[in-house]
Formats: sequence, C-alpha cells, structure tokens
Amino acid sequence: MTCFSCGGQTAPWTHMPLDPIKGTENTHKDFVVCTECGLGAVSPMPSSEEIPSFYDTAQYYTHGQSHLAEVNPTLLDRALHHIAWRFDKGQSLDPERIAKDLPPGASICDLGCGGGELLGRFKPLGFNVIGVDPDAAARAEAAKAGITVLAGTCEELPADLKGQSYDLVIMSHVLEHCRDPSLALQKAFFLTRPGGMLFCEVPNCAATHFKSLGVCSAMFDAPRHLHFFTPACLRKAISLSGFTFSSFQYMGYTRHHHASWRQWEASIYDRTRQYTAHPLGRRHTVLRSIQLLLSTALASDEKKYDSVAVYGRRPGAPERAPV
Ligand SMILES: [Zn+2]
Repeated sequence: MTCFSCGGQTAPWTHMPLDPIKGTENTHKDFVVCTECGLGAVSPMPSSEEIPSFYDTAQYYTHGQSHLAEVNPTLLDRALHHIAWRFDKGQSLDPERIAKDLPPGASICDLGCGGGELLGRFKPLGFNVIGVDPDAAARAEAAKAGITVLAGTCEELPADLKGQSYDLVIMSHVLEHCRDPSLALQKAFFLTRPGGMLFCEVPNCAATHFKSLGVCSAMFDAPRHLHFFTPACLRKAISLSGFTFSSFQYMGYTRHHHASWRQWEASIYDRTRQYTAHPLGRRHTVLRSIQLLLSTALASDEKKYDSVAVYGRRPGAPERAPV
C-alpha cells in the first residue's frame, strides 16, 4: 500500500482488535504509517460497501448521544480539570468570528454536517447554509431545525450540488472517515468558489495525548477512522488538492482531562485486553492524566490539542456582479 497523500511507502504501524463504540471485535485491525510523511491508515482499506456497517450503532455521536458515562469527579479530578481549563487556549470554529472574513449573506456548505448543529449557528447570522450527510437519522434531525441536508458523502456529492459553489466549505471531523481523502478534498475544492475558504478539522495525531495512549485514545476510534493526520499531513493534503494554506487552528484540551473521558479511555484499554494480552496502547490512569497535564500545559499547540483545523483558500479572485 502506498500513501494516498505523498505516494510514499508505508510500513506496519499498529493493531487494534476492538471497536470501542460497539464493544465488539474490530475486523479491520491493522494500520500502516507512511515512512515519508507520517500519515496513518487502516490496511487493507475496507470497501465502500463495508463502511456503512461501522456506523450501525445507537450511540454514535452524529445521533446526538454520547458514549461517555457520567462520572462523579474526585477532588483530584476537579483540580486536574480546572488546571487544564486554565491553560486551554484552543479555538473552535466560531461563526461570529469567521463572519468577519465572509461577504454578507455568504453561502456555506458543511460536508458531513451530522444533525446540522454548526449550520444552525451560522443560519441566524444571515448566511445561506446547506449540508451533506450520509446518515438519514442525522438529516431528519437537521430538517427539524429547518436546515437542508442532502444525502451524500464528500466523495460522492449529491447531484443537486453539481455546478454549485460556496464561500465557505466546512469539513469538521470528516476527512479521517473518508476512504479517499484526496478525492474528498478535490470535490471540496470544486465546491469552493474562487477566492473562497475551506475549513477542515481532524483529530491531531501529533498530540502527546494521542501518541501516549495510541489505539486506546478516544481519538483513534477504529474502524470509523480510516486515516490519521498530523498537522503537516493535513496541510500537505489540502495543498495537493489545490488549496492555498492560510493557517492552523487548534482545539480540544480541557475535555480530555475530564474524568468521564479518562474512564472511557481506560475502558477501551480494558476491553481491548479481551482480544489481545498486550494492547498496543496505554491505559489512561489518573497518574497518566497528571503526566499529560504536566508535559502539555505549556507545550506547543501541535503537542497540546487533540484536534487541528486548517484554513485554506481556493486561489482566484471572487467574481463580482457587474456594477
Ligand atoms: Zn505519505
């Protein structure tokens, strides 16, 4: 298998025999990493026909439910969470802030929008919004909120979007789910009008948290995550699709210091041991939480945050209406 992004050679990386959300055996358990650019991928890549069954779970978060159980935090848990919060300078996609970079009444397309939560925050600001999602339950959820969401994926866009272009195309925690991220980004490129903007967010596989816990990190999420990006891999992928890199934005720090998150990750390790005596990931213990906090509170954004987004622009001036 060669790397989709740079064409480099891949080498064996890791192994995950558990589907943590379903709690059953993961049959796509082997992963490779590109020796040139560091992009990770499941290998062999599952077929397009197999992928929908990965999402056949009542608890998957596009349906608005969380797999994290409520945990009564101890005094130490509260202290760790509070310290993480004090050092958290992460920024999510903020409709009010990004509105300043968009023309009034700009058009926005969210690919893989789930129930349309993000579009529901853009719409009251006067934007024309539309979404795409393969999940019928998520589309029904969006329809209740008055958001139009078409059936499709990034790789197979709905026919209704043919010839359409948008001022902002959003792909939030979508690219890592795509069989063919380069095809998905090419489609996103042609959906972005010349001069328009791409926002693409993925789990940050260069984060200390991800590297420390490995396959037992909540962000690994086999078999739904098919590709594993570092910020450099993400930047390279959007550039290869024709976008000009603008900037990175990082988010997700306080949440992975929450007792519920730690308990979930500890349970991933414990349940992985039903399938292998030696999981290739570590257990998220209280001691590890303390170590992670000490080693990341003042670290670079790339090491600190569990998610990274890239802003890109499609080259070309926006078309102006004749005066
Ligand atoms: Zn590569």
